[in-house]
Amino acid sequence: MRKLDTKTIVVASHNAGKIREIAELIGPLGFSAKSAAELAFAEPDETGATFEENAAIKALASAKASGLPALSDDSGLVIDALDGAPGVYTANWAEREDGSRDFQMAMEKVEKALEERGATTAEQRAGRFVSVLCLAWPDGHTEFFRGEVEGAVVWPPRGTQGFGYDPVFQPEGYDITFGEMSSEQKHGWRPGEPEALSHRARAFKRFVETCLEA
Ligand code: IMP
Repeated sequence: MRKLDTKTIVVASHNAGKIREIAELIGPLGFSAKSAAELAFAEPDETGATFEENAAIKALASAKASGLPALSDDSGLVIDALDGAPGVYTANWAEREDGSRDFQMAMEKVEKALEERGATTAEQRAGRFVSVLCLAWPDGHTEFFRGEVEGAVVWPPRGTQGFGYDPVFQPEGYDITFGEMSSEQKHGWRPGEPEALSHRARAFKRFVETCLEA
């Protein structure tokens, strides 16, 4: 495992919701970070078949373009009744023909697919958010950190906080969706604390424990 020996990194993302969440997670650790979007790096095609492959594509592109270590997140919603869909295609389900993204439409697609399978109970609508973080160095070295949070898809969508599919995801043990949680509740974690809630905060905790702590 390679340790991170700089506090200047690139957040290898063009997704505003993710960039904000990663900034909230790395902020307390004293990092100075710019995003690939701010640096106007081209958005690489996510041609991988796994979260790990896509996370590596994004982190390596930013590390090579900047000469700095880069941290990416590839994430998605994995629904058991849909054989793991939308999975690595979670962002694609929101794509309109003009290239813009519409998450209301994406959530409706998920709901329609679940209804077609007759999934009505929380158990039948079970799934998880998955986040794979990749830390890549300009020399091509990579480290991966995976976080998952179990839950169920609810309908109709609830809450206006968060981003993406947050309004339809209710984590196990909670009666509110990610869309109804503040960032603090959704992350559920600050450095030094034992538990994290969101898939991204869980993966991030592993990154901190592996690459930052002595
Ligand atoms: P990608 O990792 O850029 O391929 O996109 C993952 C997609 O999954 C995002 O566009 C979001 O719609 C969705 N997603 C990932 N993490 C979250 C989350 O924390 N809340 C809601 N949606 C998420």
